[in-house]
Amino acid sequence: MVKGKALKGLGNKYGATLRNKYTTVYIELKQKRVCPNCGSSKFKRLNNGIWGCSRCGFKEAGGAYAV
Ligand SMILES: [Zn+2]
Repeated sequence: MVKGKALKGLGNKYGATLRNKYTTVYIELKQKRVCPNCGSSKFKRLNNGIWGCSRCGFKEAGGAYAV
């Protein structure tokens, strides 16, 4: 999928409120995060609700879209 299309793909079907929410979540998801254990920026979401650092291997349960 081409970057940027994910946001447009929703169209008008779901209304502006939900689209805004989706955009917020999307941005949240793409944000760089810092590992609380080693400070590396390789900290990212591995699965729904699980966040991990690819540098030190630290794992943490968090929200599906945000820590
Ligand atoms: Zn780490």
